Amino acid sequence: MHLMSPSHQKMEQILGQTLQYSLDYNLNVHGMPTSGSVAISDEELILFRDEIAVKRIPLQNINEFKVVQMVGSGALQIVLKEKTEQLCIFTQDLLPVFADLAKMLEYHRETGVFPAPDDEEPVKTCPKCGLVIPEQTNICFHCAPKGKYLWRIVKLSLRYKATLLTALVATLIIQLLWVVFTYMKGLVVDNYVTSGSQDFTGLLLMMGGYLIIPLLLFGLEYINERCSSYTAAQVGRDLRGILFERIQNQSMKNALKRPTGEQIKRIANDTEKVQDFVSYHGKEAVVRVFSVSVILAVMFWMNWKLTCWIVLPIIAGFFFSRFIFKRMNHPFRINWKLFSKMESVLYDILSGIMAVKVFGSEKREIKHYSGCSEKFAHSMYVANFYWFVMFPVSTFVVTLGEYFYLYFGGNDVLSGVLSFGKMVTFLSCIGLLYAPLNWLMQLPRQLAQTAISAGKIFEIIDEKEDVLDRGNAIDKEIEGNVAFEHVHFGYKVYNPVLKDINFSVKKGEMIGIVGPSGVGKSTMINLIMRLYDVSNGQILIDGTDIRDISQHSLRSQIGVVLQETYLFDGTVWDNLIYAKPDATMEEVVQAAKIANAHDFICKMPDGYQEYIGSRGYKLSGGEKQRIAIARAILRDPKILILDEATASLDTETEKMIQEALKNLTRDRTTFAIAHRLSTLRNADRLIVLDGGRIVEMGTHEELLRHKSVYYNLVMAQRQTSKLSKEPA
Ligand code: ADP
Repeated sequence: MHLMSPSHQKMEQILGQTLQYSLDYNLNVHGMPTSGSVAISDEELILFRDEIAVKRIPLQNINEFKVVQMVGSGALQIVLKEKTEQLCIFTQDLLPVFADLAKMLEYHRETGVFPAPDDEEPVKTCPKCGLVIPEQTNICFHCAPKGKYLWRIVKLSLRYKATLLTALVATLIIQLLWVVFTYMKGLVVDNYVTSGSQDFTGLLLMMGGYLIIPLLLFGLEYINERCSSYTAAQVGRDLRGILFERIQNQSMKNALKRPTGEQIKRIANDTEKVQDFVSYHGKEAVVRVFSVSVILAVMFWMNWKLTCWIVLPIIAGFFFSRFIFKRMNHPFRINWKLFSKMESVLYDILSGIMAVKVFGSEKREIKHYSGCSEKFAHSMYVANFYWFVMFPVSTFVVTLGEYFYLYFGGNDVLSGVLSFGKMVTFLSCIGLLYAPLNWLMQLPRQLAQTAISAGKIFEIIDEKEDVLDRGNAIDKEIEGNVAFEHVHFGYKVYNPVLKDINFSVKKGEMIGIVGPSGVGKSTMINLIMRLYDVSNGQILIDGTDIRDISQHSLRSQIGVVLQETYLFDGTVWDNLIYAKPDATMEEVVQAAKIANAHDFICKMPDGYQEYIGSRGYKLSGGEKQRIAIARAILRDPKILILDEATASLDTETEKMIQEALKNLTRDRTTFAIAHRLSTLRNADRLIVLDGGRIVEMGTHEELLRHKSVYYNLVMAQRQTSKLSKEPA
C-alpha cells in the first residue's frame, strides 16, 4: 500500500485508533526540510509533526480536499466552512501520491467508503523489510518465500515421478559406485602392494571391477541424462503453457500492468531457469547431500578421530560463507534490478525503433542504453567481487582439513596405527568429499535465483483476475440491443471516468460517440467489450447483463476496427482468416470485395498469398484499414465498434474506406468514435460526453439546433478546418 507511512503503526499506537491512510510530507511552511505525516482515521484527519499530533479535524467538517502545485513543490489543502486551510507542503516528487490521497478522500466524502489504495504504487516497498521492490513485480527479492516457490516447482516435477526418480536413483548409484571404486584402491594397496601377497585371483577380480565400474557409470550417466532432460523439458513446457494461457486470459488491467518485454522474459528466461533447476540443480542437490553423508559415514567408520580434523574446517567454512552471503544480498539485488532495467530499456527502444529513426535520436538512445549497460556491468563487477573473494577463501578454509589429515594421518602411518592402504582410501574419500561440498557452497546463489524466477512465474499464475466469467455465464446468440444503466467506471475506483451513464440502443442502430479528448469515449467501448468491468450499474445486451454472458461468446460477436490495425507477421490470407479460421475462399474474397480491398490485394505479386511482413509494414494505412474491415466483415459481428477507424487516413482514402464502412455497418448495431465529426453525420444518434457524463443525445441536425456542446464542437472544428483548409 503506498498510502501508508513507515510510521503508520506508531501513529496508530499514539492515537489509539486504526488509520485508513497515512502519508509523510517533507517541507515546512518556509520550504525547509521537515518530517511529519498526514493521517486519516475513520472520523478524523490528524496532522503530525515530529510524531506529535498537532492538529485534528473531523472529516465531516471538511468540504473539499485538494492538492495545489507550487514552484517545485505541492501542498495539500482542505476547504472548511469559512476558509481554505493549507495542511502541509511536500516536494514535487510526492505530488502524485498526495493527488491520489486527495482523490480518495473526495471519493470517501461523496460515498462514505474508503477506497482501497491501488496497487500501482509509484515506488513500492516491502512491508516486512522496507526495501524497495523492483518495478513490474510485487516480489521482494529479500523476503520472498523462496522455499515455498521451490517446493511448488518440486510438486510440478512430481507429475513426472517415473523419470524423475529414475534419474535420482541413477545419480545416487553413480555416487555410491565412486565410493566403492575409491574403497577398492585402498584394498589393492593393502592386500597386494604393501603385503606382497601372491594370490592374484582376488587382484584379477578387482581389476575386473575396475573395468566394469566405469562401464556401469557410463550406462547410468546415460540413463540419468535422458531422464533428467526429459523431465526438465516437460516441466518447462508445462510452465510455459500455464503461463502463456494465463497471460492470454488476463484482463486488460493486468495485461497493461507489465510491459510486454517483461512478460516475454517471464515466459522465456524465468521458465528456463526453473528448467535448469529441475534438470540439474534440484536433483544434484539431493544427490550431493546424500554423497557427503555417505562419504562422511564411511570416513567416521574408518577413523572417527581423523574425520573430526576434516569436519571442523568444513563447519568453519560453512559459517564463513553464510556470513559473506548475507553481505552479498545487497549487491546482487542491485545487480538484478539493473539487469531488469537494462532489458526493459532495450525492449522499449527496439519496439519504438520507428520513433527513434524519425526523431533522429539514435545517438541519444545508444547513450541511454550504454549508460544502463555500464551501470549493470559495474554492479556485476561489485557483486562478483564479493563472490570471487568468498569462494576461494571458503574453499581454502574447508580444505584446511586435508593438511591436518596429512600431518596426523602421516604420523599414524609412521607409528603403525594406520595402514598405508587405509591412508590412500581415506585420502581418496577426502577428494570425493570436497567435490560435492564445493558444489553445495555455490548452491544458495543458484537456489535464490531459481526461487526468484519461480516467484515471478507464480506471481502471474496466482494473480487474482478482475474480469471473470460468472459461474452461471452463458453462451448467447446476440441480436444487438445494448443498454447502459447507471454505469459508473474509473480505472481507479476513486478517479471516475464515466459517471451515471444511461442510454439504450436498438439493434441495427448506428451510434456516434463524441466529446473532447480524454472524456471517456474509448473507455465506453472498452466496457461494451468487457475489457474492464463497470464499477457500478450494468450494461445489458438484449436484456442480459454482459457479466452473465461468457467473455468468449460476447467478444466473438463483436467486431472492432481501430485507428491502428494490428496485422500479424504472415500473408494477407493469414491475416484475413484470423477473424474466421474456417472461412472458405469465396467468403474471404467476398469480404475483401465489400471492404474495397480485393483490387489492391490482386495487384500485389502474390495476391492473397503476399507476405505483408511484421505488423503489415508493406501496406499503406488505408490498405491496412481495408484489411481490418474485411476481417470484421468475415467475422459477421452483431455489434460493431469503430474507434477512429479513419482518423489516420487522407481524405481520398477516407472516402473509399467510408464506402467500405457503409457496407460493413448495414444491419449491425454500430458504435463509432471519430475525431472528424463530419464522418458521424449519418449516425442515427449521437451521444455527447462531457465531464464523464452524457450531456446531449440526438441526431446531428437535432444537436446542431440545440446549439449546445455538440454545436460548439462542430463550430470549433469548422473554424480549425477553415484555417487548415480541410473540410470538417
Ligand atoms: P477518449 O477516448 O475520450 O479520448 P479515453 O476513454 O481513452 O478517452 O480516456 C478517458 C480517461 O481515462 C483519460 O483521462 C485517460 O487518461 C484515462 N485512461 C484511459 N485508459 C486508461 C488506462 N488503461 N489506465 C488508466 N487510465 C486510463
